Amino acid sequence: VYCLPPEGLPSAIVPSHYLTRQELTRFVRLAGALGIGRIRLTGGEPLLRDDLVDIVESLKKIPTVRDLSLTTNGSRLEPLLAALKKAGLDRLTVSLDSLDPRRFEEVTLSKNYLEVIQAIFSALKMGFPVKLNMVVLKGVSAEEIVRYVRMAVDYPFEVRFLEFMPLCGTGWRPEWVWPIAKVRSVVREHFELLEDDKPRGDGTAQVFRIKDGKGKVGFIASLTESFCGQCSRLRLSADGKIKPCLFSDLEIPIKELLRSQAPDEEIFEAIRQAVRIKPKGNYFYEQPFEAEKMKDGFQTTGSSMIRMIGG
Ligand code: SF4
Repeated sequence: VYCLPPEGLPSAIVPSHYLTRQELTRFVRLAGALGIGRIRLTGGEPLLRDDLVDIVESLKKIPTVRDLSLTTNGSRLEPLLAALKKAGLDRLTVSLDSLDPRRFEEVTLSKNYLEVIQAIFSALKMGFPVKLNMVVLKGVSAEEIVRYVRMAVDYPFEVRFLEFMPLCGTGWRPEWVWPIAKVRSVVREHFELLEDDKPRGDGTAQVFRIKDGKGKVGFIASLTESFCGQCSRLRLSADGKIKPCLFSDLEIPIKELLRSQAPDEEIFEAIRQAVRIKPKGNYFYEQPFEAEKMKDGFQTTGSSMIRMIGG
């Protein structure tokens, strides 16, 4: 309900426009030569792609790929876990917007709660590091915060709270926004948070260990405590456009270069160009957060693409 228009997607990328496994592999190999070593497969929903396991296997063979992760809604994860592990996937992030089956269905419009829960515990058992993402919706799921952190006390999950962002037009409701500072204070009322031993680096989450807990808790404040200054990400859409920032129209089409077997130097230049034009930050970076001003249809830029390329 928060990232798709209720009437569904106006258009989807047709599969013939998808980059092939070979094109993706070449792109990642060349990006690796320029220093890009952490790769995340996201979506939409990456597990809808039939050759996803083969893609993982091909990418993992590239020596520069030092970390290969996957973000998924978890619905189709369980039966693919063993194959993904064998193919070399390093880590998983699963969207889990509610621990209550009824609310899960209300928020995700999916009846796959049990499948998702089963998948995340199976993933832990198989030795995957697992992050769980919850977009905190005031009045919808905010009351679940304590229960969610308890999962990271009992199990070695990293549970992460994400601020609701004005992503996709019709899914946006300013009254659902709960600034991350409030979420953090609810968590601190119930748990003692300890500094994480790993530096934040260019990560999106501010992560803490939990006293006497097996897991960790992270806070992702895209709106009120923007981390654009540390962002070193580039996104590549399924149909071959490099997007230097989610909140910008900027994109560099690369599919034709890959499809026509253009020389490596041309691909290098496209990647370098994407880095050069990367904006300083998002809309909110320049304009302080004012929830009441953000109405449906607020966003007019390419950020609507988020639903097609992942957050
Ligand atoms: S808004 Fe753009 S610059 Fe900021 S964190 Fe997201 S992708 Fe990076």
